[in-house]
Amino acid sequence: MKENKRGISRRDLLKLSVAAGTLGVAGKATLGRAADETPENEGAPGAADESLPQVPRRVLGKTGESVPILLMGGGMGFDRRFDPKLAEGLRFGVNYIDAADCYASGSCELSVGSFHTRADVRKDIWITSKSDQHDPGGFEKTVHESLEKMQTDYVDLYYLHALKDPSYVNDELQAVVARLKKEQKIKHFGFSCHDGNVDELLQLAAATPWIDSVMFRYNFDKYGKDDLNRAIDACVEADVGLVAMKTQRSEVSFRDAWKKFEGSGKWTKHQAVLKAVWADDRIAAAVSHMDTLDKLKQNIAAALDKTELGSVDRRALETYAAVTREHACEGCDHLCGGAVGAPVQIGATLRYVMYHDVYGEEENARRLFARLPAEARELSRVDFARANAACPRGVDVARQMERAARIFRA
Ligand code: SF4
Repeated sequence: MKENKRGISRRDLLKLSVAAGTLGVAGKATLGRAADETPENEGAPGAADESLPQVPRRVLGKTGESVPILLMGGGMGFDRRFDPKLAEGLRFGVNYIDAADCYASGSCELSVGSFHTRADVRKDIWITSKSDQHDPGGFEKTVHESLEKMQTDYVDLYYLHALKDPSYVNDELQAVVARLKKEQKIKHFGFSCHDGNVDELLQLAAATPWIDSVMFRYNFDKYGKDDLNRAIDACVEADVGLVAMKTQRSEVSFRDAWKKFEGSGKWTKHQAVLKAVWADDRIAAAVSHMDTLDKLKQNIAAALDKTELGSVDRRALETYAAVTREHACEGCDHLCGGAVGAPVQIGATLRYVMYHDVYGEEENARRLFARLPAEARELSRVDFARANAACPRGVDVARQMERAARIFRA
């Protein structure tokens, strides 16, 4: 039995996982133990428990690597010492951890380092991280800091985090990326994006050969998304690996909206949403915040079940999309921001409210808001009534920004 220098063996790793109460996959939809024999699983990396069914995998575009369709989101951070959710996911083949320099107020990367060194599984996991610094010098510096915090020599995929300004994708950055790849500090490169210009940025990725992958806002609500679909097609054509995030949609302050999903009873809303994303085979994988073992188990169960969503659940999602649309900001603030005539950032501000209210990341939300330019934080001086009229989705911007002003004392 192999033991690492901290004395945790693979067998111990499995025991830790079982001790956490995870004797198999459970959830609203519970599965048996039939092995996944799809060709997609061939060549999957290592520490998975071969006696358990494995989450299906897809190739992530031009990286040429297979990744599980369910990715472990680190936005809310992990247990700093040893997170049993990571160990449990690994047993079922969920070996891709999505981190960022800023997640969980900077502690996410430390937790990832702690996990893989204690469990001795670095070679068995895929680590993605991201830099909030988009200029070439800042980006390179962050990569080195990430390597140190995560106690690793390389990162499998490194993104510019939450890119908005396409001009950062330039020759100077390309040279830095090429050097980091040559030095084997990063294997693959791309960016994440979730603001209003996702379509434009996906088209940019499709036209930029050195962009390997993009992680972007994508969900079950197809309303008014023709441009997005064309941009996704362009990325598929260019072999850019696509990762979906924010799949549950940005429900600003409306936890109760979950109750409006009335499906067949086979799937929770969370599971149904993921299955709707996986039904689009242009998308390699969906990242999910799984803050509890129960949610992890439910998501694994949904990933392992190969049946498609039935008509009842598909209709329920359409209804859910329609009745919650006015609560779900899509970040397209070029539409509403121009209407108010003030340099506020409505999309970003409402996203931080969502982090505060739905994710429970109060400190992180305040920190992110505080990093907006001073003029974008002057919320109480702005009349948002015109933004209400300009929003095609019917979001009550004025009411939400009033709440943002209270939360962020702006
Ligand atoms: S409030 Fe409406 S227009 Fe403004 S960013 Fe959100 S969805 Fe787009």
